[in-house]
Amino acid sequence: MTPTSFEALPLAAPLHRVLRELEYTTPSPVQAQAIPLLLQGRDILGCAQTGTGKTASFALPILHALHENPKQMRPKTCRTLVLAPTRELAGQVGKSFSTYGAHIRFKQTLIYGGVGQNPQISAMRGGVDVLVATPGRLLDLIDQRCVDLSAVEFFVLDEVDRMLDMGFHRDVKRIVSLLPAKRQSLFFSATLAPNIVELAQMILQNPARVSIAPETTTAERVDQKVCFVDRENKKPLLELLLAQQAKAEIGKLTIVFSRTKHGANKLAKALCVAGFPADAIHGNKSQAQREKALEKFKKGLTPVLVATDVAARGVDVKDVGLVVNYDLPNEPEAYVHRIGRTGRAGAEGLAVSFCAEDEREFLREIEKVIKAVIPRWDDHAWHDESLADRHLRMRTGGGMVQGGGNRGGGRQGGGGGGGNRSGNGGGGGRYSSGGGTGGEGRDYSNASRGNNRRRPASR
Ligand code: AMP
Repeated sequence: MTPTSFEALPLAAPLHRVLRELEYTTPSPVQAQAIPLLLQGRDILGCAQTGTGKTASFALPILHALHENPKQMRPKTCRTLVLAPTRELAGQVGKSFSTYGAHIRFKQTLIYGGVGQNPQISAMRGGVDVLVATPGRLLDLIDQRCVDLSAVEFFVLDEVDRMLDMGFHRDVKRIVSLLPAKRQSLFFSATLAPNIVELAQMILQNPARVSIAPETTTAERVDQKVCFVDRENKKPLLELLLAQQAKAEIGKLTIVFSRTKHGANKLAKALCVAGFPADAIHGNKSQAQREKALEKFKKGLTPVLVATDVAARGVDVKDVGLVVNYDLPNEPEAYVHRIGRTGRAGAEGLAVSFCAEDEREFLREIEKVIKAVIPRWDDHAWHDESLADRHLRMRTGGGMVQGGGNRGGGRQGGGGGGGNRSGNGGGGGRYSSGGGTGGEGRDYSNASRGNNRRRPASR
C-alpha cells in the first residue's frame, strides 16, 4: 500500500518537522512508492521525470538513515554518493539535502568542474556524510587520492539518461567499480532505453521498479503547442509570447531553449534590445556567471532565460510558466527534459515549440517518442500553413490533411501580431487548439478531439 500522507511514513522526527515547515503534506507518487522501499533497504530503478519530487524521494530516506545511525567518517570518504550529470543539477540536489536535512546533523559537500578544486579537496579532508558530484571532477579527485569511495553506503545516480547523453558512460562504470559491493543503490532516469537498463542491471541488486510516468510521455501538467513558422519570423513570434507572458499573474518566468551557445547569446541580447530583460546560460559561461544569471532569473529581475540543454539541466525554478523551444532539439528526449522545466511542483505550465522547415524531422521524432501529436497554435500572424501541411503529410505519409489546428480564436490579448484566423471566441485558453496535450499512443487522426486541457484565461 502506498502512503497518502507523510505522517504515515516512518521517517525520523526532524524530517517530519521539516516537511511540516515546507508544507509538504502529501507525498508525490514517486515519493509514495520509493520512500517505503528505500527505508526497507531496497535498491531502486526509478523512471521519473523532472518535477515529480524525485529528489526528496531519495534524500529523505538517506537523511533518515544518517540520522538513525550517525558515524564518524574516515578522511576523504563519504557515506552517500550522488552522481549528477551537471553542476547545476548537483547544486540543486545539494540544496535539497540542506533543505530536507535542516534539522539533522550531517556534513555534505559538492564536487564539480569549472571551479577551483582546492576548496573541494579541503571539504573532503575530514570525510562527509553526503557527497554530490559530477563524474569528471570526481574521477580527477579520486585519481589525485583526495576522495576515497570505499565507505559509500548509499549510491544515487540521478538523471542517468542525460549522463549517458553527455558521454559519461565510461566514467560512471569506473566510479561504480570503486564502490563497495555492499551498498544500497538508487538509479533514476527519465527514460529507460536499452543501454540505460543494461547499466542499471550492472549497478543494482534485485531492484524494485518505481515508474511514475510511462517512459516516453511528457510532463502531464504541461500544455504543449507547436508553431509552424519561418526561421526569420521566430523572433517576432517569441516577442509576442513574451509580451503575453509578462501579463501573466503567476508563472511569469520564461525559459527559451536555443540549440547553440552562440544562438543563446545573440537571442538574449536581441530580447534585451526589444525590451525583454533576458540573460543567457550555456556551457561557455563560468559557474559564477551561471549562478548569477539564475539568481536574477529566480528573483524575476531578468524574467527570460535563454539556455542550451546542458545548462538548463537541474534548473528548478517554480515560477516558470512558459518554456519556448526556439530551436527544436535534435534528440527527442531533450524535448521531455525541456518542457519539464515548467509545470513544476503542481503548477501549470505551457511549452511552445517553434518548428521551421529544417526542423520538421525533429518534430516528427519528438511526436514519435512522446506518442502524441503536439497541438498546433496557428492563431498568430506568422503561422506558415504550407509548412504545417507538409509536416502533417510527412507524419501521415501523405494523404488527407486532418484536424489538429486551432481555427477557433482563444488567444487572449497579446502584444501585436494579430491572428490570421479570426475565431469565434470559443477557445478559453491563451492558446486554444484543436488537439489534446498528449494521450498515450493517440492516433494522429484523433488530434482534433483529444482531452484538450484549458488554461485559465487570466494567466
Ligand atoms: P524534483 O522533482 O525533486 O526536482 O522536485 C520538484 C519540486 O517539487 C521541488 O521544487 C520540490 O521542492 C517540490 N516538491 C517535492 N516534493 C513535494 C511534495 N511532496 N509536496 C510539495 N512540493 C514538493
